[in-house]
Amino acid sequence: MPFLQRKLLTIILVLASFVGLNAQEIDGSKLLRHLEYLSSDALEGRKPLSKGSSMAQKYILKELTSLDLVEPLYPGFIQKFSFEDRRSKKMVVDASNIVAFIPGAASKKVIVVTAHYDHVGIGRPDATGDSIYNGADDNASGTAAMLVLAEYFSKNRPQHGMLFVGLDAEEMGLQGAKALVNDFPYPLEQILLNVNMDMLSRSDAKEVYVSGTHYYPQFKSILEKVPGEAGTTLRFGHDIPGTGAEDWTRSSDHGAFFEKKVPHLYFGVEDHVDYHRPSDSFAGIHPEFYKATVKLILQSLLALDKSLLVNQ
Ligand SMILES: [Zn+2]
Repeated sequence: MPFLQRKLLTIILVLASFVGLNAQEIDGSKLLRHLEYLSSDALEGRKPLSKGSSMAQKYILKELTSLDLVEPLYPGFIQKFSFEDRRSKKMVVDASNIVAFIPGAASKKVIVVTAHYDHVGIGRPDATGDSIYNGADDNASGTAAMLVLAEYFSKNRPQHGMLFVGLDAEEMGLQGAKALVNDFPYPLEQILLNVNMDMLSRSDAKEVYVSGTHYYPQFKSILEKVPGEAGTTLRFGHDIPGTGAEDWTRSSDHGAFFEKKVPHLYFGVEDHVDYHRPSDSFAGIHPEFYKATVKLILQSLLALDKSLLVNQ
């Protein structure tokens, strides 16, 4: 082969291997861009039914509906729901879960990947005068992770169906998750498990917990075999009954699945100094830890999707 042709072929092969490689990875810079937008001041803390909430919804919808393979299970990919506000006792009407479905290649069973996108809005200012509760870690981080995971599985079809869900009104009592399990598009028995993500982007100890294996030890042996990611460590725990606030079994949306006896795994970090403060902002997150943690969750999801198919 003439030199120039051979050189061209080499370039093509190198480019092709890059494309192949990229399909196996999540896009770390896009992950950070999603988080930065969702936690920006413009979204005013994403309180349910607020202007900022509807901006967040539009963003999530645009991202999810632009993917290949996704199907709506609710009109326009939105599950509307109403509930009574525990504090004011008034009805909150037309809160919105955003739901996109990727059909499985080999099974009718589904894995439900959830993250709440709401936070607490604008509130009492802190010492610096900041009154916007950006909720960067809680839970723009889980929402951004859900978006890049959906993108990954739209390019690498899973064995089981996967629902990718941005849940509303978690901060008002897991309302979006309760609405989802009460009006689920399939019988609940069809759910293999719920993987919930809430607070993934900062940890001084560089640790993320997976809670739920106390109840579902069948998942622990699968997760223990997942290769580690540099910059983050997966810890098991926070699911022992009778340990008070240390037991996270009902601490976020997976609690609504637990109440319906649907298996769950919850990924999240320990509370930090900026938890539920205006200072839980993009500036406070740990980008390298966050990217590594979302990669670890992707590897966990891949292992579960593969292993549970063999086992079921
Ligand atoms: Zn949260």
